[in-house]
Amino acid sequence: MFKRFREHGVIERVGRTSDGANTYRTDAGAYEVAREIRQDRDTLPCGHGGMRNLRGDDYTCGNPDCDARYDRETVADAVFA
Ligand SMILES: [Zn+2]
Repeated sequence: MFKRFREHGVIERVGRTSDGANTYRTDAGAYEVAREIRQDRDTLPCGHGGMRNLRGDDYTCGNPDCDARYDRETVADAVFA
């Protein structure tokens, strides 16, 4: 999952903290492209197509009759699955 992020350029390693942990940044542009690609398909975990960005990292299903919500990780996982 994380590797896929890296492969698609959504996450880029930018450095290392003093305690040795890698630090990353997300590429908003790449993420947006991936999200748009995703919207052309019909395979959200709830079975509907489309999604709406609520705010921050929260997304909701694009189907008005469905109240499924997903965090950014779940959405990205679906995009790159
Ligand atoms: Zn749904």
